[in-house]
This record gives sequence, C-alpha cells and structure tokens, in this order.
Amino acid sequence: MRQRKLKPDFFFDERVCECPFGARVMLLFLWMMGNQKGRVKKYDAIVAGSTFPLVHGVDFPSSVKALESVGLIEIGPGFIQVKDWDFWQPGCRPDRPGIPERIRLAVFARDGAACLLCNSQKRLSLDHIVPYSKGGPDTIENLRVLCLRCNIKRGNRG
Ligand SMILES: [Zn+2]
Repeated sequence: MRQRKLKPDFFFDERVCECPFGARVMLLFLWMMGNQKGRVKKYDAIVAGSTFPLVHGVDFPSSVKALESVGLIEIGPGFIQVKDWDFWQPGCRPDRPGIPERIRLAVFARDGAACLLCNSQKRLSLDHIVPYSKGGPDTIENLRVLCLRCNIKRGNRG
C-alpha cells in the first residue's frame, strides 16, 4: 500500500494560502495522484478530476493555472509536476538534525535571527550554501540562516 504524507508546515505555506479554494482542493488531489516523483499525467488528471467527487465543480484549467502562478506546480508537456515533492515529505528537512548544536548556534550568532535574503524572522532554517546533496559539509562556512520559504525557493533552482 502506498503511503502519502505531508508535513504539517505545508498547510501554512504562504503560496498555498494565496490560492483560491478550488486550487487548494486541486493541489491535494494532485498530491494523491502523483507518482513517486510527484508527477501526474495531464490526461489522467483531467479524467480522474472529472469523476473524483472532491474536485467535482472545481474548474480544472483555472485551478491548475492558479497553482502554477504561485509556483506550487509545474506544467510540462503532457504532465503536471507537484513542486517541492521531496521537500514536503516528512523526514526531509532543510536543516537536518545531524547538524551539531554548537555549529547551529555559531551560524545563528553570526547571521542573526533573520533570513539573510528576505529578513523574515519566521520559520528560520539553516541552508547549505553548497547543497548537502552535492557534498556540502555541515560547517559554519557552508551554512547560513534562511527562512523556510527562501530555502525552498533556493532548492527549486536545482
Ligand atoms: Zn527569507
């Protein structure tokens, strides 16, 4: 059986809040339909979307457009990609628990308690300047304070 989990943070994401009701329902629907990488065939989405009771009455094209305009999905040739798919799975965290406490504290002491990009003081996290996935270490030099939103945006650049 397939498990689908979302981090609770997801529902507080400003981009989700900005969307009209129909688009938010559509996002949950796409989330359920997505394959292992969060991709849904456009044809499947349209067919299932027209029969699935929850999205009945939600206008497919305008909802998809709304989700795309706030950057929650990407529309490709024949498919819809839910963005940040891996990021929103529980267990994937921008600042992993593996970063030693003394390093975390040193980075916050250097950067202050605000995002270096947008100055937000909400939902702060540690960002690897050279991504962890590309071998970036958990060192003070390679870490900086970013809010969750900027951290996600950065992750999107690939
Ligand atoms: Zn920020």
